[in-house]
Amino acid sequence: MAGIAAAAQGQCQECHMQPCFKSDLLARYELQRQAFAADANPARKTRVSRLDRLLALTERHENAIVKAINEDFGGRSSHETRLAELFIIRSGIKHARAHLKRWMRSRRVATGLQFRPGYNRLIPQPLGVVGIVSPWNYPFQLAMGPALAALAAGNRVLIKPSELTPRFSALLEQLVASAFDIDELSVINGGAETSKAFVSLPFDHLFFTGSTAVGRLVAQAAAANLTPVTLELGGKSPAILDVSCDLAHAIPRLAFGKLLNAGQTCIAPDYLLVPQGQADKVAGLLVLAIARLYPTLQLNPDYTAIISEHHHQRLVALIAEAKGQGAKVIEVNPAKERFVAESKKLPPTLVLGATRSMRLMQEEIFGPVLPIMEYRDLDEAILHINQAEHPLALYWFGRNTHNRDRVLKETLSGGVTVNDCLWHLAQENQPFGGVGASGTGSYHGEWGFNTFSKHKPVFHQARLNGTALFYPPYGKTFDRLLAVLKRIA
Ligand code: NAD
Repeated sequence: MAGIAAAAQGQCQECHMQPCFKSDLLARYELQRQAFAADANPARKTRVSRLDRLLALTERHENAIVKAINEDFGGRSSHETRLAELFIIRSGIKHARAHLKRWMRSRRVATGLQFRPGYNRLIPQPLGVVGIVSPWNYPFQLAMGPALAALAAGNRVLIKPSELTPRFSALLEQLVASAFDIDELSVINGGAETSKAFVSLPFDHLFFTGSTAVGRLVAQAAAANLTPVTLELGGKSPAILDVSCDLAHAIPRLAFGKLLNAGQTCIAPDYLLVPQGQADKVAGLLVLAIARLYPTLQLNPDYTAIISEHHHQRLVALIAEAKGQGAKVIEVNPAKERFVAESKKLPPTLVLGATRSMRLMQEEIFGPVLPIMEYRDLDEAILHINQAEHPLALYWFGRNTHNRDRVLKETLSGGVTVNDCLWHLAQENQPFGGVGASGTGSYHGEWGFNTFSKHKPVFHQARLNGTALFYPPYGKTFDRLLAVLKRIA
């Protein structure tokens, strides 16, 4: 802590340079800590003012945000940015503003008979200085979603966005600096070293969205400071077509859910389980549905590019390995375009006959590639899911409510949408978050407010009460009272 205070005032304690990213980071952290100490439980008016400024930033700079993300991706659908980033955040801010009064209220909770007329209350309080680390795939939504919840809960917030969206991350830093004091909300940009230094700060809460591998490192860094963490991670989210499923209804929804942001969505269906004998038919219908959504690909502004050459090559390698090991690969290229080497777009690809040993079925795909696997009966489909880590999302399509309820009860996942894809994420009245390897903790709506609050239990003792009867020296009165208590408690 002494190092933090020293660095905040001048030279970095390690490189002895001023300024350097560490001294800048520590200075901001220290400013926020001091500001929080001066106003440890901001009034609703202050919190609403912060939410209003966030809303104004979202609304006034929509075009600049859309443009920066488009440039970072080398082609990101502006419609998808407006729907899946700006609209989601706008709704989140409005929901928080509308419910803040109720969320901030201290709540009376029941009191055991033996403690009355004393009474219990739960008081929500901000935690202090919160750190948010966000990924590149929805850079605005995944930085601002946790930030709005942390601000609503009365915290000071530092954000470290992804280095893979440099134009957007620089824009966010500039926009936030123009609307917020540095000790309220601040954005810090940088590469791997900055990320590591960031997560090693003794935050009062650290909120990380990203891969399971990096999430593990973040949890370890936070543990050194006993900083509580929320981990919003990834994984392989299955979609199940039940035997009772209406394919004409399900297939377009699956195609949309898989190809939004070209599959670079944490809750995208990662692979598809279909009843035995239906893989070819389902693949044929998917080809038609995809062609309707995306008649062309390369220059189609609706079809998003893969974020980097490295990510593109990884996906190409996954497909090649599956093909090499005997899987049937169907590239969906409706206009039969020739993909030039420098194209950042990857055609939607269906893979039939994938096996568990392939990398395609071991890693999170995170791109427009969909393995379709057959199952003999529901037991086998459930076993398949339960043999892997708990997924972030699960999708079930069908009409047989018995089968639906079996899947809901016998599998564990972060969230579920029945008869569609993705939409459980947009429910402000439901928590969003993973379980096990797909994450810890949750946010959205009141769950976000609670994540960034301490719900402090307070017991108000009555002036007249019997607890003195339990004081030593212990004797018969104590024994008799304990016997009575055992009967009523
Ligand atoms: P990533 O884990 O590579 O990076 C996420 C963030 O962590 C970035 O800001 C990066 O700078 C930072 N980082 C990298 N190394 C770090 C380290 N050693 N210490 C601290 N921070 C470090 O993830 P990504 O590639 O940006 O995003 C894709 C992954 O995120 C996928 O697995 C996806 O499923 C997951 N994701 C999850 C959700 C969710 O809500 N659960 C949402 C979006 C993405």
